[in-house]
Amino acid sequence: MRCASKSATTRLSDLAKATLAVLIAPACAACRDPLDSPLSSAVCAACWSRIHPLTEPLCRICGDALASWRLEGALSAVCTRCANHPRLITIGRAIGAYEGALRDVLHVLKYDKRRSVARPLARLMAQAGAPVLDRADFLVPVPLHITRHYRRGFNQASELARHIGVPTVNALWRRRPTVTQTDLPEGERHRNVRNAFAIRRPSRARIQNSVVVVVDDVSTTGATLDACAAVLLSAGAKEVRALTAARAVSRLP
Ligand SMILES: [Zn+2]
Ligand SMILES: [Zn+2]
Repeated sequence: MRCASKSATTRLSDLAKATLAVLIAPACAACRDPLDSPLSSAVCAACWSRIHPLTEPLCRICGDALASWRLEGALSAVCTRCANHPRLITIGRAIGAYEGALRDVLHVLKYDKRRSVARPLARLMAQAGAPVLDRADFLVPVPLHITRHYRRGFNQASELARHIGVPTVNALWRRRPTVTQTDLPEGERHRNVRNAFAIRRPSRARIQNSVVVVVDDVSTTGATLDACAAVLLSAGAKEVRALTAARAVSRLP
């Protein structure tokens, strides 16, 4: 009886989805093609399948893709940027490059405010970030400044973090508004976020001797992640790692 009623429920749900698809014909929020299953996701299956994860060889520190020739003879694979500018983040990972379908889906989350795409994105982040999440104590989302937070209505980094499957602590706050990093030349990004973050007082005890993972939607040069790491380390964190949905990949020769 239970099976019969379950299959009847499934059939009703399928019928509702099909009716909705025909009557309203909602479009995929990323590519605008009609959605086959509008109740399941705001983004179509084809867009999800077009997200290409970063694959090895990756920089062991920031997770940037490495040209395979750079590995020859190298004891530890580190990208030029990490080799030239020592990082506070010990290990960082992202699902993929900030381009194509992944960028479109992140825009759906951030600018169209479709928070339902955060959960599937977080699932992909957990897969890509397995080495980052290994024995991590908790996640810390990169905070928005309060005015931007209120304007958007939510923090996309927090939305991603809460579905990753590791406890989240809102340990940081943004002391002043900053220009979006992608709008600045690389040389100015560190200055833009210097002293931009501070510890929220109630989190201080939790941070002591902990392995923390800073979470954000996109990393570009890593300046924001390092600025967060600096305050977490000064508050007593043992180690700070980073997990982002996407990273702006530098094109190495
Ligand atoms: Zn689509
Ligand atoms: Zn690197």
